[in-house]
Amino acid sequence: MSYKKRLLWQIYIPFLVIIILSLFLISWKASRSLKSLYYDNQVDDLRIRALIIHQIVDDHLNTPGETDMQKICVGLSQKIQTRITVIHADGVVIADSEKDPALMNNHADRPEIRNALNGNIGSSQRFSYTLNISMLYVAIPVEKEGKVAAVIRVSKPMTYLSATLHTIYNQLISASIFISILAALIALMLSNRIRKPISEMIAGLKRFSQGDLKHRLYITQSGEMRQLADAMNQMAVHLDDRINTVTRQRNEIQTMLSSMVEAMIAVNTQEQIIRFNHAASTLFHITPEDAKGKNVSEVIRNTELVVFVKRALTAREPQEAHIVMWNDQRTVQARGTRLQDSDGQNVGALIILNDITQIKKMERVRSDFVANVSHELKTPITSIKGFVETLKDGAIHDPENADRFLEIVSKHTDRLNAIIEDLLKLSRLEDEGISIEFEEIEIIKIIKDAIIVCRKKAEQKQIEIEIKCETDLTVSVNPPLLEEALINLIDNALKYSPEENKIEIKCSQDQKGTEISIEDNGPGIAQKHLPRIFERFYRVDRARSREIGGTGLGLSIVKHIVQAHQGEVSVDSVVGTGSTFRIHLPRHLSC
Ligand code: ADP
Repeated sequence: MSYKKRLLWQIYIPFLVIIILSLFLISWKASRSLKSLYYDNQVDDLRIRALIIHQIVDDHLNTPGETDMQKICVGLSQKIQTRITVIHADGVVIADSEKDPALMNNHADRPEIRNALNGNIGSSQRFSYTLNISMLYVAIPVEKEGKVAAVIRVSKPMTYLSATLHTIYNQLISASIFISILAALIALMLSNRIRKPISEMIAGLKRFSQGDLKHRLYITQSGEMRQLADAMNQMAVHLDDRINTVTRQRNEIQTMLSSMVEAMIAVNTQEQIIRFNHAASTLFHITPEDAKGKNVSEVIRNTELVVFVKRALTAREPQEAHIVMWNDQRTVQARGTRLQDSDGQNVGALIILNDITQIKKMERVRSDFVANVSHELKTPITSIKGFVETLKDGAIHDPENADRFLEIVSKHTDRLNAIIEDLLKLSRLEDEGISIEFEEIEIIKIIKDAIIVCRKKAEQKQIEIEIKCETDLTVSVNPPLLEEALINLIDNALKYSPEENKIEIKCSQDQKGTEISIEDNGPGIAQKHLPRIFERFYRVDRARSREIGGTGLGLSIVKHIVQAHQGEVSVDSVVGTGSTFRIHLPRHLSC
């Protein structure tokens, strides 16, 4: 049942029941009073008539001849439209206006007669078997010498009384029906008057509950309903304000959390995740929505970190630790602080994770580099120191050995110089790599300039350098740097290839960019070395490299130069067949 119907029933039915009950009670009470009033009135009327008749009857009572009495009764009865009966003190009917007294029973037992014989005025209403109708009787005593000598009874049929009462009853019923219908209509109108603003209010509240707090309730009626609507409108304004503030604050927090580089996890005291930011989502490969509500151990899956969270939840002081995760692949710096509410109650913990994998890697690379540099420098310095000591100890006076020793010292000094120069180049590239100047130039020109530098070595080893490159291909590069990279690659090819060999330099250009390759028929490089070949100081054959003057930094310099051009360098090599080094420069550097 809809609320409209409910409201109608709640107002209408009780209202109607009360009206009908009241009408019924009033009608019943009124009809009873009316009936008794009417009865009393009729009894009084009959009593007066009887008293009038009493005078006439009294005069004739002592005269003999009952037929006179009979005549008098009949005559009077016709005049006053009332049945008259005269009864002797012994109950024998002396005269009756309606019937022959000889045929009538003794009336001493009739209640009104009994009363009158006792000296009172008697009245009674009952069915008359003589006339076969319901009658109202009133009897008065006729006294002679202080004794009741006879009784005069007057009576009236009750049919008139009943008819009058019926008319009144019918009028009462009609009035009741009319009033009930009127009451029903009024109830309907009233319930509608109440229902309309309530319906409007319910519709408005529904909109409030759906979040439409800009909506306003308009109640045209005055009074309590209007006050209620005003109060609700005010409530909506306050609520809207509050929600806007909370939303703004939440968005600010959300923006801050999602722009944080550090992963942030907030847990409650049951170790369930209550906040999980974007960085945490990237670190643990789970969306914040999926992580929310889950136990921290389900999401993190790292025993050390789970133990750290537990510690942060219980410890008074902020906690900090470096945690290695996923089989040493990542290192995070974890910081954990207990979360407390305004009452100082412990409500959880805030964990901030900083991915320091790269920093750790850099630290390792740096320390490896320092160790490598020290190692590389130590060998020539030790040699120089040794030979200088030997010369000081007297070898300087032995011209043949002295020359040889000085030659070795000079070679090691050159080597030291080469290493330091290469290191400086690398350091410069790392510093300036991103801000180098580009110039549009024909590729062939850079290749030819690089070959000029290497020509001497090529001639010594009788190695032919063949260029397969279209002359008009241009590229936007830093020419000295690209030339340096090419020199390093050509030099390597010359260094590691046997004599009387051939090197091929090719270049090509397509949609993807420009490619320059240097192919030799040298010893090649074993597959296992290829992934590390561009690392600093990485050599396949350390002794051989040193012997032929390599610093172990050549390919590393090439890699840095190419990266400064946003390009890539790669190598294909088969042991015993040869190696091909390729420089790929992206399209935007090609013209
Ligand atoms: P190095 O100064 O020792 O040549 P590089 O960085 O230039 O250092 O080269 C690293 C190592 O790669 C070399 O020691 C050498 O073993 C190997 N290598 C480089 N180029 C070639 C090549 N063309 N053929 C064979 N091995 C090569």
